[in-house]
Amino acid sequence: MIPPDHPRYRSLVARERIAGCARAGVVSLEGIAAHGRGEAFDYLIGERTTESAHVAEKTAAAFLVSAKNPVISVNGNTAALAAGLVRDLQQASGAGVEVNLFHRTEERMNLITRLLEENGVTVMAGKAERLLPLSHDRALCLRHGIFESDVVLVPLEDGDRCQALRSMGKVVITIDLNPLSRTARAASLTIVDELTRALPQITRFCRELPVEQSAKFIRECDNNRFLKSALQEMEANLAHALD
Ligand code: ATP
Repeated sequence: MIPPDHPRYRSLVARERIAGCARAGVVSLEGIAAHGRGEAFDYLIGERTTESAHVAEKTAAAFLVSAKNPVISVNGNTAALAAGLVRDLQQASGAGVEVNLFHRTEERMNLITRLLEENGVTVMAGKAERLLPLSHDRALCLRHGIFESDVVLVPLEDGDRCQALRSMGKVVITIDLNPLSRTARAASLTIVDELTRALPQITRFCRELPVEQSAKFIRECDNNRFLKSALQEMEANLAHALD
């Protein structure tokens, strides 16, 4: 039991959740490593939502509510940390939710689908086909889901798949604490913020952002600017770390 007054309470709860979900088979062993990388970058950004991530979250909401066919792609870590938050975002944005895994087995697909459904998410069903320009099972997705989407939110994605989705002409939004990752650089829009801080903000803006402002946020979206300002934030935190 982690004491709620522990200074690193939130982070320790998340870590415990990732470990428990790994034991249950929802999170892959590789997913534990990816989580640790995220934790390290969260230290650098100061474990808070920066002003520029806030704008990126508004921009993500603008893309989602303006999309014809938005889809949220969910992997093991996202389901483990944020199943209820994905439900809220689905309700606010009207997006479809598809389970899509890098380390894909039938068993993990079923476990993650069940976890999401228990938390009130409506999960897209059907037979996955090799439709993405990638080798092996990473090409698998649903024709009426990710394949036909115009805007796809892929939290904690891998670089190759992000590039493949971009090459298909989609708007790809990612949430990634590492502004240097291939995913962050390949995406149309990267939110450099922690997943469980970012999702509720995007949900709130899906509900609150006036339609006329959406067009402005979409027009002004500049992924490089978001990445540069995250790096500047990290540099500044490092420069003053021991003051
Ligand atoms: P790429 O292939 O894009 O270069 P990678 O090898 O880091 O990146 P993964 O390990 O699949 O790819 O990606 C996981 C990414 O998600 C990491 O960059 C990590 O910083 C980030 N990440 C992990 N946990 C979280 C979290 N809770 N919130 C936000 N980002 C996270």
